[in-house]
Order: sequence, then structure tokens, then C-alpha cells
Amino acid sequence: MKRHNFSAGPSILPGSVLQKASEAVINFDNGLSLLEISHRSKPFVDVMENARSLALELLGLEGKGYKALFLQGGASTQFFMVALNMLEKRAGYLNTGTWSDKAIKEAKIYDDVYEVASSKDANYNYIPKGFDIPADYDYFHCTSNNTIFGTQMKEFPNSPIPMICDMSSDIFSRKLDFSKFDLIYAGAQKNMGPAGTTLVIVKEDILGKVSRKIPSMMDYKVQISKGSMFNTPPVFAVYTSMLTLEWLKDLGGIAAIEKENDKKAQLIYSEIDLNPLFKGFSAKPDRSTMNATFTLANEDLKETFETMVKEAGINGLNGHRSVGGYRASMYNALPLDSVGVLVDVMSELERKA
Ligand SMILES: *Cc1c(COP(=O)(O)O)cnc(C)c1O
Repeated sequence: MKRHNFSAGPSILPGSVLQKASEAVINFDNGLSLLEISHRSKPFVDVMENARSLALELLGLEGKGYKALFLQGGASTQFFMVALNMLEKRAGYLNTGTWSDKAIKEAKIYDDVYEVASSKDANYNYIPKGFDIPADYDYFHCTSNNTIFGTQMKEFPNSPIPMICDMSSDIFSRKLDFSKFDLIYAGAQKNMGPAGTTLVIVKEDILGKVSRKIPSMMDYKVQISKGSMFNTPPVFAVYTSMLTLEWLKDLGGIAAIEKENDKKAQLIYSEIDLNPLFKGFSAKPDRSTMNATFTLANEDLKETFETMVKEAGINGLNGHRSVGGYRASMYNALPLDSVGVLVDVMSELERKA
């Protein structure tokens, strides 16, 4: 049966990428596996360099003072690594959901954190707007897409201080002026590759301003000076991410994939709005193009709906426990057809009910 993979993370990757990645596990360099050659050998150094430059190229950040790193420990490690490298006195955080909340908690270990605004009052179903960012803070931190709640920042403030953004679940999905940001991080497993590596894009001139000592592995400056290979990098995750970035470039880059992502989002949200059996969770202006969250208006239909979903080959539709209901994650690699199959099931339910 053809499967339609709406998993929130780890999530769908292009079939051609999976094919190439699996071949490299057997034979990458003249009969040797990608997994058994030195990360210092030329074939792998080329992979790392290619992955780093593709990331900057796709984001339009080449030659603008940025460096790309592939680190370990997930986006969750960036929650405290950002603070270790950047937080001297006080930082401002926008709290738009579980992941922002965790970033705040980890940064507080090092110093003072101030929430510039929060949507916790409404279980994070909207993005706060019109907040101030104090100019004398060390940095401002936000989360571009709230994977769990299905909200997405459509506009970003003109921050008077370095702007740091967790883009784990929507990086490479839409055109933005990425040069507005001074540091961007994203765990690979949502929109870029397998779990095991985190992309960090950092503007070099914001670093080196804190007085504390930083362990080498956690120091962006050390990681930059070693070309993202201070220690053994996660070779499979970096290689597969590189393949996905090549796939995206061949498709026409972010501008091309954004059009597809908009079509997918339009399709699912118009069904949610027109079908009386479903209710959208997030505020309409803030709806995420990556994660659509919705519930059934009538819980009695739960079993019928879930059976139909399963029979249609749909995977990964369960909502996060803090929201309930359903979440359709529609990352770059998910075809429009898959959203069509889900929408058909939803309208079929309306006919049946
Ligand atoms: C999944 C996710 C994280 C956590 O990523 P890990 O790589 O598992 O640490 C952080 N932020 C956002 C926005 C996410 O979607």
C-alpha cells in the first residue's frame, strides 16, 4: 500500500534521497561504506564542505559573514549553547510554545531571561504581536514555527539586538530575508534530514562577546575554526542532509518549494474551514504551512475517522498530547497528492456522517 507520511519528526524525506543514502551505506568510496571511512578523508571532507555551502547558498547568505555548522545534540542543545555563547546579562525571548518555553528554561541556567511576550494564556494558539525588544539586551530569541501547536511567525521584528531563531520545523520551506537573523538553528529531522545533526547558521561578528569560559565542543568559534569537525561529525546525518539540500536546489530552491508548500497548506486549511466536522486549532492569520492542527467537532466520530485514515495509508496524524486531535505535518518532501488523500478522507467522513 502507498503510504502518506505526515509524521511530525523524524519525518518524510524524498525517495531519491533515501535511495542514495542507503546506497552510500554499502558503497560510498570505491567499495567502502560512508560509515567506515575517516571523516578526515577527502570524500567526506567534500561532503561536509558541500553541505555547509549549500545551506548558505539556499538561504541566500553566501558572502555575508555567515558560517554554517553541522553540530550534534539536537536543537535542544542549541537552547543552552546559544546562552553559553551569547548571554552576558539579559536576553529577551518570545514565548510561542513548548519549544520556546524549553529554550527559555535552559537559558535561565546561565543568566537573566525576560519574556518579551507570550501566548501561553491561550495554549499557544496564536503568535503575539506588537511587543518591544529592549535595545540593551544581549539578544532576542524566537521560534519561527511552532511544531506542536501549528502556528508560524509570518513577520519578524526589526530587532535592535542580534536576532536568534529556532527554525527547526520550517527552515528551507519559505522565502524570508534570512540576513535579518544573526543565528539560526534547526534540528535536521523535520525538514532536512535524519535525526543526529543540527544545522547552525551564525554571523561570525556576534561571537566572542561573553566573559565566561566555554567548553570547546560548545563554542561556536571553535566549531567554526575546525570547519564543523572539532570531533567526529555524525557522517550519515550530514551526508543525507546534503542530499536533501541538493534535491531542493535541483527543484529550484526555496522559492519553488514555497509554492508547493502554499498549495498544500491551502488545500488542508480550506477543508478544515469548510467541513463542519473539523475545527482548526490555531488562529487563522498565524496558521503554519508546515503543521496543520485540528480536532474533530464530534468525538463520537473518532474511531470511524481513524479507521479511514489508516485504510488510506496515512501515517503520523496524531496530534501532540498538549493539543490533542490531529496534526498534519506537511514538510518539503511531502507531495501535494498526500494532502489530497487526507482531504478526500475528511470529506468522505462528512458524506458518511
Ligand atoms: C523538534 C523541535 C525541537 C527539538 O529538536 P531536537 O533536535 O529533538 O532537540 C526544537 N525546536 C523545534 C521548533 C522543534 O520542532
